[in-house]
Amino acid sequence: MDFASDNAAGASPLVLEALLAANHGAVPAYGSDPYSTRAKTMLNDVFEREVTAFFVTTGTAANALALGALCPPWGAIFGHHHAHIANDECGAPEMFTAGAKLVGIDGPTAKISPDAFRTTLKDFPVGTVRQVQPGALSLSQATECGTLYACDEIATLSDIAHGAGMPVHMDGARFANALVALGCTPAQMSWKAGVDVLSFGATKNGTFACEAVIFFDSEKAKNFAYQCKRGGHTLSKGRLLGAQMAAYLENDHWLDLARSANAHASDLAAGLKGIPGVRLAWDAPANQIFAILPRAADEALKRAGARYYDWGSRGHATSQALAPDEVFIRLVTSFATEAEAVRLFVSIVREAVA
Ligand SMILES: *Cc1c(COP(=O)(O)O)cnc(C)c1O
Repeated sequence: MDFASDNAAGASPLVLEALLAANHGAVPAYGSDPYSTRAKTMLNDVFEREVTAFFVTTGTAANALALGALCPPWGAIFGHHHAHIANDECGAPEMFTAGAKLVGIDGPTAKISPDAFRTTLKDFPVGTVRQVQPGALSLSQATECGTLYACDEIATLSDIAHGAGMPVHMDGARFANALVALGCTPAQMSWKAGVDVLSFGATKNGTFACEAVIFFDSEKAKNFAYQCKRGGHTLSKGRLLGAQMAAYLENDHWLDLARSANAHASDLAAGLKGIPGVRLAWDAPANQIFAILPRAADEALKRAGARYYDWGSRGHATSQALAPDEVFIRLVTSFATEAEAVRLFVSIVREAVA
């Protein structure tokens, strides 16, 4: 019963097989190999237009390098207070932008509210040399609270950003989970809604270590190859990344993996919801569930070896007050979650509160 995170799983077997298959013969280094070329062509098809894509090994590198391409050192990067870029990347976005300032914005369940964004922007007047200048907006889809921006909500925030002269970055560490939950197309959830650069996550959803930085405007990518290399993210054996990404995209494998992860989360949510004394903190339609449990259930789960995070300690306040004998937890499912683990987890909670 491992619901700690979707990176607790290994890679999808198809990705692993593709890596083994790519392990013979000599090919050009530094990403000029046929595997990487093919994966880039596949991304053009996925996004229904020509994109400029680069492969890196971590989501932190994808985000930080992408922001480094968008935002000058004297810029402000606007993101939610709970954003991964602000709380989980050890200052990488600040480092790769050579010192841009991260500005946190409010909004319930880790979603930036358009009003809060507009209000925050008033504190960053264009042309005032005493203040950092609007540099980029960064949105997480899915968010750190497992919630989603509908495509029109992305478009509204993008319009505000573009109106203030800023490009839009999307942290899509869980892009696939959000996409299948919304039932829209990759194009609708990104460039058609105003996203300029996307961190297209794949590691949590089935590769071993491969994420793409996708530029919808090649002009913005013109220095990225240098930034990537300078940041130590240009793999000499680039086929390692290209082979993973091609296998991930092949025959919509990535969508199948995300559907499976989301289905496990929805089974978990449905099972927990039916138990007296258990509440879900908010509606989270992708693969992260936030639940409030009686302490007795938390203790029984831990005794049984279940793994998950106590989310109360992360400061993601729920709108619902916790009683002293309640705990607030996050559960994440992945493509590798087993139905039996979900069933066992729910039955332990049910017995503990009976
Ligand atoms: C996991 C995650 C990332 C990427 O994290 P790495 O550990 O650097 O791969 C980025 N953003 C969000 C929202 C995430 O959950």
